[in-house]
Amino acid sequence: MIQQGVIGPVYLDGKAIAARVTEMGREITQDYEGGNLLLLSVLKGTVFFMADLARAVSLPLEMDYVAISSYQQDHDVPGASNIQITKDAGMPLFDKDVLVVEDIIDTGLTLYYILRFLAAKQPRSLEVCTLLDRPYRRLVDLDVRYRGFTVPDTYFVGYGFDYRQLHRNLPHLAELNV
Ligand code: 5GP
Repeated sequence: MIQQGVIGPVYLDGKAIAARVTEMGREITQDYEGGNLLLLSVLKGTVFFMADLARAVSLPLEMDYVAISSYQQDHDVPGASNIQITKDAGMPLFDKDVLVVEDIIDTGLTLYYILRFLAAKQPRSLEVCTLLDRPYRRLVDLDVRYRGFTVPDTYFVGYGFDYRQLHRNLPHLAELNV
């Protein structure tokens, strides 16, 4: 009831998301066999994606979390966003195959900052897995190894994605009605 109004049409239902996450998990399982996989998710938009993806990977793996705060002055100007790590990984990364788990990559500025921060810790490998991507919005060059869906320039809520910290708990991805 309280979610009526701002929640628009369903973009991806829970079943479609689950099917794609299962495929991504299979791919990761093949690619990281014999490795030292650490899924490192960026809070909080990835909470459900991380939980589902981790269970779709049939390998021993570690899970950890980083948190950021981002104060964006102008979304379209490189360097205009002020990003800070508010929670660091809780372990050394030097011997790990780190797979950064993201909710969505838009300009790429957030992830660019996070990758630079993590690369300094000298992991054995460092790759990116994102549920959603808007590659046509990119302002910086990034290699994205695993991508769930390429999406239009619409604001999404649900399945971990918030609007003003609400609606993360919707089981599907919806467009925002504002
Ligand atoms: P970037 O730094 O790539 O421009 O922005 C990425 C971040 O912006 C994401 O991690 C996410 O926090 C936020 N973001 C971008 N698009 C959306 C969206 O459609 N919905 C929500 N809830 N957050 C978004």
